[in-house]
Amino acid sequence: MSISNHLDWPFFEPRHRTLAADLEQWAKAHLIDGHAKHPSQAEVDEECRMLVRRLGEGGWLGYAVGGTAYCGSGEAIDTRAVCLLRETLARYSGLADFAFAMQGLGSGAISLFGTDDQKRRYLPRVAAGSAVAAFAISEPNAGSDVAALECAAKREGGGYVIHGQKTWISNGGIADFYVLFARTGEAPGAKGISAFIVDAATPGLEIAERFEVMAPHPLARLVFKNCRVPATQRLGEAGQGFKVAMATLDIFRSSVAAAALGFARRALQEALCRSTSRKMFGQALSDFQLTQAKLAKMATDIDSAALLTYRAAWLRDMGRPVTVEAAMAKMTATEIAQQAIDTAVQIFGALGVVSEQTVERLYREIRPLRIYEGATEVQQLIIARGILKAYEKDR
Ligand SMILES: Cc1cc2nc3c(=O)[nH]c(=O)nc-3n(C[C@H](O)[C@H](O)[C@H](O)COP(=O)(O)OP(=O)(O)OC[C@H]3O[C@@H](n4cnc5c(N)ncnc54)[C@H](O)[C@@H]3O)c2cc1C
Repeated sequence: MSISNHLDWPFFEPRHRTLAADLEQWAKAHLIDGHAKHPSQAEVDEECRMLVRRLGEGGWLGYAVGGTAYCGSGEAIDTRAVCLLRETLARYSGLADFAFAMQGLGSGAISLFGTDDQKRRYLPRVAAGSAVAAFAISEPNAGSDVAALECAAKREGGGYVIHGQKTWISNGGIADFYVLFARTGEAPGAKGISAFIVDAATPGLEIAERFEVMAPHPLARLVFKNCRVPATQRLGEAGQGFKVAMATLDIFRSSVAAAALGFARRALQEALCRSTSRKMFGQALSDFQLTQAKLAKMATDIDSAALLTYRAAWLRDMGRPVTVEAAMAKMTATEIAQQAIDTAVQIFGALGVVSEQTVERLYREIRPLRIYEGATEVQQLIIARGILKAYEKDR
């Protein structure tokens, strides 16, 4: 919900407007609103696989991969398209957004750094929705401080042997392959990490634990014991894994902001619908100025976050550095979305806290976005580091 149609903004090209309109029609026809109450893990897994297939059949997953020779919708990943997709999907279904996002995040490093052979073996299946992708970097002792990761890949014969663990891995348990970041020791810290593609069926890779989370989706801890992968499964140069991870996150960070926007827009829509129909003290709830102040703040916050989000996406599509701008977008959009959704719950009164009411679901869906792909505090550090560096340079 926006007074001016944000698709008219100069960040977009005609193809983006067409994409948004087509997707809106598709989402209306194919995505159910809400999920089963308290779904079991098996139900969540099945729904997620089904959504990946359905998104593939709809042709939307082509936007998650780069290269038309590999079934991508363009030669490079179109960040604005990815953001529009996530924003729209999130307005309809958090799990559909998740399914789309993970296909992109889980295969993004292959699109960006894969060899022709790696791209041919993985990307067409990702685009078709016949292979589920995952991105595995976090560990029990390396979350925000990702360069502290300990999972190790040792050179042995013609390949690598992986030992260690990864945790909080989305799609863990249902993924067909994991893009894994492990220490290969070329140098200490961030310069001694490499990226690998590890097929889920590789002996020595075990799903050690599954987590139930407030917005249900597949999430797991993985253990690697004597897990052997050929050197052809390494992504990019040895020791370049941190760069691979950061380049992938530069695309998908802006898209987390877009998903948050989708949730926030849906909350505003719900708040408008409820406040204009709920009668109290002889008038509609929306007739009270206190309510109008809430609605005004939600709408203004959403537009300001949308401007930051699509600026970051546009910058990346123009080939410009985007780390600081993507951090600004991710931080702002996820924080304002949390507030907007909380306001919507308040406007709904008791009804707002009933299980699986749309605003109650949004309240749970938005929370993890302030934590994953760099928590808000990490985004603050990235932004501050960027402006201090620019200040020093100009001095
Ligand atoms: C739903 C969900 C899905 C996820 N999916 C994936 C996935 O698919 N793949 C993957 O690899 N990881 C995934 N993660 C993990 C995620 O990236 C990490 O949770 C995140 O990086 C934070 O790490 P942590 O949980 O260890 O928190 P910690 O690093 O322990 O941070 C705890 C708190 O400290 C704050 N903090 C950090 N640094 C500073 C500082 N310098 N000053 C002050 N405060 C600070 C943080 O912002 C946070 O609030 C997922 C997480 C969630 C919740």
